[in-house]
Amino acid sequence: MQYPEPISKLMDSFMKLPGIGAKTAARLAFYTLSMDEDDVTDFAKALISAKRDLHYCSICGHITQGDPCEICQDKARDRSMILVVEDAKDVISIEKVRDYNGLYHVLHGILSPIEGTGPEDINIPSLLKRLQSDEVQEVILATNATAEGEATATYLSRLIKPAGIKVTRLAHGLSVGSDIEYADEITLMKAVEGRREI
Ligand SMILES: [Zn+2]
Repeated sequence: MQYPEPISKLMDSFMKLPGIGAKTAARLAFYTLSMDEDDVTDFAKALISAKRDLHYCSICGHITQGDPCEICQDKARDRSMILVVEDAKDVISIEKVRDYNGLYHVLHGILSPIEGTGPEDINIPSLLKRLQSDEVQEVILATNATAEGEATATYLSRLIKPAGIKVTRLAHGLSVGSDIEYADEITLMKAVEGRREI
């Protein structure tokens, strides 16, 4: 027997999310049927609002409702430092480390020859544009400690250093292969404090 169309449509939608296969999609779709109607409505509205009301900051690429984002607009921030991350989630992780008071730049990806992701495919051109301002004295490369994260950091370092800007890399107390997103606050604090020049 086939699933009724509303269920199979819902399953198709769940399967578009990362890490969700047919079995989990079926479980979630049937669970949705058992939910309160108000909760389902709130869920649907939250999905639409997240997509409609959030966009990327035109300066740093972080997610924001206004543009530029609050961090880029904050006059109390140290404008001489830009910390470069792969993902907007990493900004949120590092913001929990209250020691860091500089700016950010979100790449929205990582260089990957295997997947055919080159410098123009991620947020690198806009980073280079920001560096043309005399304000920036240090770029902290905080890509993840994976092979691709390291390769991206090396690539950026070669590009940025000739401009006379100091380039540092997070001291990875973070183990090899680990994601910033999952590091605890103390580890991240130490990683930022102990960053080394590359
Ligand atoms: Zn911003």
